[in-house]
Amino acid sequence: MYWSEEIETIGRKELEKLQLRRLRTSLRRAASSRFYRELFQNAAIKPEEIRSLKDLTRLPFTTKADLRHSYPGGMLAVDPEKVVRIHASSGTTGQSTVVYHTAHDLDGWTDLVTRCLVMAGCTPRDIFQNMMSYGLFTGGLGLHYGAERLGMMVIPVGGGNTDRQIQFFRDFGTTVIHITPSYALHLNDVIKDMGLSHRDFKLRLLIFGAEPYSEATRAKIVEAYRVDTYNCYGLSEMNGPGVAFECGASDGMHVWEDNYIVEVIDPESGESLPPGKIGEVVLTTLNREAMPLIRYRTRDLAFLYEDTSCPCGRNFRRLSRIVGRADDMLIVRGVNVFPSQVEQVLMKLPEVGTNYQLLLDRVENLDRMTVRVEISGRMFHGEVGELRALRKKIQHELKEQILLTTEVELMEPGALPPSRGKAKRVIDNREI
Ligand code: ADP
Ligand code: ZN
Repeated sequence: MYWSEEIETIGRKELEKLQLRRLRTSLRRAASSRFYRELFQNAAIKPEEIRSLKDLTRLPFTTKADLRHSYPGGMLAVDPEKVVRIHASSGTTGQSTVVYHTAHDLDGWTDLVTRCLVMAGCTPRDIFQNMMSYGLFTGGLGLHYGAERLGMMVIPVGGGNTDRQIQFFRDFGTTVIHITPSYALHLNDVIKDMGLSHRDFKLRLLIFGAEPYSEATRAKIVEAYRVDTYNCYGLSEMNGPGVAFECGASDGMHVWEDNYIVEVIDPESGESLPPGKIGEVVLTTLNREAMPLIRYRTRDLAFLYEDTSCPCGRNFRRLSRIVGRADDMLIVRGVNVFPSQVEQVLMKLPEVGTNYQLLLDRVENLDRMTVRVEISGRMFHGEVGELRALRKKIQHELKEQILLTTEVELMEPGALPPSRGKAKRVIDNREI
């Protein structure tokens, strides 16, 4: 099923022609902002010198620091009168940044989101409960307008207030939810505590976004809710959700390449990496007026698929699941660790509950990582010997996977602060 069949099934050749045409327009627009005018001047390059898609690599990258430095208006490329909305990143990793949109930009973004929702199999008969927070964060309004355009009934409840969320599932027969994976885990705990289960609801689709998660977490959620899940990737700098989305083949997320050029680079050298190699995702907007971004370094790590054809009929390149954010990478006693690696180990174990936290500190000049993990209620009230064995098992599995000896603290269900949006997994108390 397609929302815009013609564009969604476009052939590679035609797509590349369209990309080049749009890229040249984007560069021309970008050059009217103060930031890009200076950037192009310093790099001694004129937008009109970009004559092929390959030429794109001659242009410098744009970074998050650039966005911060040019705050608030340095990257604005249109007359302020044309701007109709701003969004900002949630500031997960530092000071927030702002993105401007014209009516054209919002319309284009809405269309991409609608395409994604149709790709997941949503129809106007669906009841869509958007459990991402509304406001400057793009997860709320971004999905909202796409869902309305598709004609679903939208419940713009936002994040948190878990009891009410569950009440709405029952009152309105919600069939599709948009939620962070960590909140979906917590929500399931509350559902169980209320003595309810998936049988009490009509949920059929879960759309995940906003944070990295592991396959083991996905499997756990599918088991609890008995639904299909779809992964939705985006970031406020690139509008928000709807940059790339998983199709029914459940094998990577299609990047809407008529709106974005995607590259994966070696974060150290900046060189392009071939398909299959994990590196930093770099994106260029192709259809934005107010704030075009050229070769934006997302800090997200993933790889591109080689094959551009897909059983779903789309030829847009596929991106793997985001394995982590460069900013989230922990260096513990010289070993690189992503929270998602720890998560993958924990969530595979049936004795483990739904929440965990990584605590870092330094003891006698040595880094120490403590994994605090909630275990299932049944387990918690079990024998001391059993608990000791479980602790050992977790330690052992972690050591195998991340090559680090960790302290493991088993916690009672509900002991850790629950996530109602983007989870905060790491507490780093090491002094630099
Ligand atoms: P931030 O979290 O940096 O303050 P945003 O609110 O714009 O800013 O969130 C965008 C970020 O969220 C992405 O750069 C990425 O790290 C993460 N993200 C979004 N969607 C996904 C997804 N489906 N899988 C993994 N990570 C995601
Ligand atoms: Zn596909």
